[in-house]
Amino acid sequence: AIDFKWIRENEGVVAANIKNRNSNANLELVLKLYGRMLDVQKEVERLRAERNVVANKMKGKVEPSERQKLIEEGKNLKEGLITLEEDLLKLTDELQQEAQCIPNMTHPDVPIGAEDCSTIRKMVGNPREFGFPIRDHLQLGKELDLFDFDAAAKVSGSKFYYLKNEAVMLELGLINWTLSEVMKRGFIPLATPEIVRSSVVEKCGFQPRAANTQVYSIEGGDQCLIGTAEIPVGGIHMDSILPESSLPLKYVAFSHCFRTEAGAAGTATRGLYRVHQFSKLEMFILCRPEESDSYHEELIGIEEDLFSSLGLHYKWGFTVPFYVDSLICLAGGSLSSNDYFGILGRTLDMASGDLGAPAYRKFDVEAWMPGLGRYGEISSASNCTDFQSRRLGIRYRPESTTTPKKGKGNAAPTQFVHTLNATACAVPRMIVCLLENYQQEDGSVIIPEPLRPFMGGLQVIKYK
Ligand code: AMP
Repeated sequence: AIDFKWIRENEGVVAANIKNRNSNANLELVLKLYGRMLDVQKEVERLRAERNVVANKMKGKVEPSERQKLIEEGKNLKEGLITLEEDLLKLTDELQQEAQCIPNMTHPDVPIGAEDCSTIRKMVGNPREFGFPIRDHLQLGKELDLFDFDAAAKVSGSKFYYLKNEAVMLELGLINWTLSEVMKRGFIPLATPEIVRSSVVEKCGFQPRAANTQVYSIEGGDQCLIGTAEIPVGGIHMDSILPESSLPLKYVAFSHCFRTEAGAAGTATRGLYRVHQFSKLEMFILCRPEESDSYHEELIGIEEDLFSSLGLHYKWGFTVPFYVDSLICLAGGSLSSNDYFGILGRTLDMASGDLGAPAYRKFDVEAWMPGLGRYGEISSASNCTDFQSRRLGIRYRPESTTTPKKGKGNAAPTQFVHTLNATACAVPRMIVCLLENYQQEDGSVIIPEPLRPFMGGLQVIKYK
């Protein structure tokens, strides 16, 4: 239920928003199709009313010659209606298709411009001073026998990978630790389908039919591989009215994610940084509209907590050089990743041109990637307001008026919920980040303390 009436009444604001969002939406065409659809709708209603009049006349006493005329008239009306109803369906489909591209409106605090206009909300930690020549994750992985890109290229193609040995434990450890942390905060765990209907993908704001789509479609059907668990989780409550008392609904969902990465190029595509398939835990919240801004803050807060616990951000106001920890480790002492202050991270308020269609506002967390020599995005948290719920048909009924008094018309109108999504753990970049930041001079890698119980007690990945 896209609000076309509102779009038409606010044409100027919507057009400016489309421009700010660097979107390819064609507002003029959408409004033209909407106008035509309204005209056809009116005509359909007129013909239906006429058909009813004819049908009612037939029920009464009618002369045989008159009856014949009415039968003819009814037949013509029916044929006309069939054609018009087909036109209406086609027009509605075309309108919906065109309108999918119109982006959500934008939070007033969002910086306007391209990605480089994004503002830094928070900087945490200090860059680690290594004091020895560093290895990137590819070299570390090769020496420690953690990945096999060559075999994956033969078996699947480029940008696929096998994880091996401790890297497998690291993936599962990261997922299990993150899941337990997020569940502690009251999120319901899910493991989702990874093949979904194209219509659900579109209703979530992705464009599987676009020329440079990031979505893999299954040939010969109407299904796609998911690029994120946001899609199947968004779909769970599609076409339903939720009781207000069930809100907020908080989910944390595990899935594999599949992305074509069409158009991706450059150094940040090497190794595990940008791949076609990866494991991810995604948080997803459905809530009342007035609460979505504060849940957005809650989600970014959880992300920051998680990354801090892994030592990717610092928590306290002083720093300890990284080598102090390494020395403790070499001496056989116990290591706490809370002592790891050496790694820098930052949170960004993403600029309008980088929001994608569904987000009203998006915060990205970036961590310092020593191998890349720059920050790399490890997660993002978006408030999609009612963009997805309108398309998916997810409403709630305000509580005070859930039980109408006797008689009709007392129930309060239903409203669309707001939806939010945020990365809890996207595995490959976490592996890049952890290996590169926790490497030691001898090529071994320290495992952050919270992960160890989830990795059979492993403290260090060593050369075998
Ligand atoms: P997004 O859903 O696009 O906001 O991505 C969420 C997170 O998934 C990002 O912050 C990255 O950590 C990770 N990610 C996205 N695309 C890829 C990819 N092609 N390969 C590896 N990780 C990715």
